[in-house]
Amino acid sequence: MSPRNDRTDVDVLIVGSGPAGSMYARTIGELVPHARILMVEAGPRVPGTRGDHTQNMSEQDREAAQLLTQGPDAGTQRDAALLDIAEGLDPSLEFRQTVLPGLHFVDSHPTLRSGEVGLPAASMSTGVGGMGIHWGASTPRPHQSERIPFIPEDEMDAALSHAERVLGVTEQRPPGAGLAAAIHSAMAEEFDGPGLTPVGFMPSAMHWEGERLVFSGTGAILGDLEEDVPGFELRPETLARRVLLEDGVAVGAELQDRITGEVSTVRAARVVVCADGLRTPQVLFASGIRPRALGHYLNEHFQMASFLQLGDDFDPARFGRDPREHGYVLIPFSDARPMQGGVMALADSPYAIGDDDGAAASRLGILAWYAAKDVRYEDAVEFSETETDFFGMPRMTIRYSRTDHDQKTISAMYANSIRSAARIGELTDQPTLAAGGSSLHYQGTVRMGPVDDGSSVCDERLRVWGIAHLYVGGNGVIPTATAANPTLTTVALAWRAAKELAATLADER
Ligand SMILES: Cc1cc2nc3c(=O)[nH]c(=O)nc-3n(C[C@H](O)[C@H](O)[C@H](O)COP(=O)(O)OP(=O)(O)OC[C@H]3O[C@@H](n4cnc5c(N)ncnc54)[C@H](O)[C@@H]3O)c2cc1C
Repeated sequence: MSPRNDRTDVDVLIVGSGPAGSMYARTIGELVPHARILMVEAGPRVPGTRGDHTQNMSEQDREAAQLLTQGPDAGTQRDAALLDIAEGLDPSLEFRQTVLPGLHFVDSHPTLRSGEVGLPAASMSTGVGGMGIHWGASTPRPHQSERIPFIPEDEMDAALSHAERVLGVTEQRPPGAGLAAAIHSAMAEEFDGPGLTPVGFMPSAMHWEGERLVFSGTGAILGDLEEDVPGFELRPETLARRVLLEDGVAVGAELQDRITGEVSTVRAARVVVCADGLRTPQVLFASGIRPRALGHYLNEHFQMASFLQLGDDFDPARFGRDPREHGYVLIPFSDARPMQGGVMALADSPYAIGDDDGAAASRLGILAWYAAKDVRYEDAVEFSETETDFFGMPRMTIRYSRTDHDQKTISAMYANSIRSAARIGELTDQPTLAAGGSSLHYQGTVRMGPVDDGSSVCDERLRVWGIAHLYVGGNGVIPTATAANPTLTTVALAWRAAKELAATLADER
């Protein structure tokens, strides 16, 4: 029996159909199978199985899905959008890291105050599955100070393990084989040391089915929810305009049908907002929920990528090639080196570009370094009281600067890019800092905290301080400075929160 309450239309309303919202839905559905769960998604359905990764689609479907999820740019061929980016970004290097198919910009022409760098490449995806149908599927665990200090280690490890199972994470174990082993060994010699997290391989949410590499999209999280939980509904093209409050309790939301424009309300026993790192605080702001920390502490890791020509000892032709090997070497975050490095020979990776023979013959390698940024109150996404965005929601403005310490971190990241390249070959271009926003990992905007002291928006179970029955999720809840790709952590945190939510629902039966 569902925990029904005569005054509610649904037990749980979830805003946003990305990995975070989907983990809530799945977990609540597993624990309370008769729950009525409504998930609303501002963007459209895309071709194929709901939530499937675009890499698993036919080329035609993939292109259609990418065009559909571009929000205001939906249907626009990306070349046109490439031209529409702020001055000062080097198109030769930064475009390829900043404008990605399936995404749309927050504000590619920000008005910057003195000293600000902004996040001109900050992007979003608006469609069923969120960014999780386009993502790269890299799922490293957080290390050392990347981890959340007020969640017990064993609890967090259990949550990360659960998230890995749900996402279908696979990982090559050191020492690896063939060329990947050679690169791993070179990187371990260069970067391993006392107190440092050992060099390994990048865990990834992908697996082989016969000859086909399958990426886990958001659909891997949702599983068979529609069949297992009859009360589950995913309603696309439906914008949550604001959360409805009564006496400090979230009781539902105002929704807008994006096709007809019709506005309606839905009453819910619990409301969960997982509308991405920038739009979750937007929904709260629009609802009049404006704790001091809302939108603040915004941070993303710095990103630096470069190509290199592999030296003779790392010539792919010298190694037997097992196309199933996953040759993405990971230099993980450590406090003494607050950054993460990724090194890969394109010929030896599942991401190989171009035709197989061409890639194998070439000696191209790629380096991607991410570094943690200082987390500061001043870095923020702000919302307008008067102006609206394409969706009719409060317009966003990003305030973002780099500290002196950040500049040192960037220099150290540059040095490590050079070091990692020099071990295995020669750079073909200089490592360049990607435009702000390129990481696509926007954290801190609805950050969790151990106490309600004004520096956080929610508690460690993602319950918004001071508002009963309101939960948040997504990368915005992560409070620490990180270099690791965040989705694994985000999904793990959503699982912890959803278990708590489900338990309170069950108690109300
Ligand atoms: C190309 C690419 C590569 C990436 N690679 C990696 C990687 O390798 N590893 C990694 O960890 N992460 C990666 N990411 C990031 C990863 O996809 C995100 O961390 C993850 O999707 C965040 O999940 P989420 O549910 O919080 O948000 P999203 O996936 O962004 O989903 C939020 C959803 O909420 C919807 N929404 C917003 N506002 C409203 C509203 N008012 N009403 C209704 N719906 C709303 C949006 O339309 C969207 O569909 C990558 C992303 C991209 C695009």
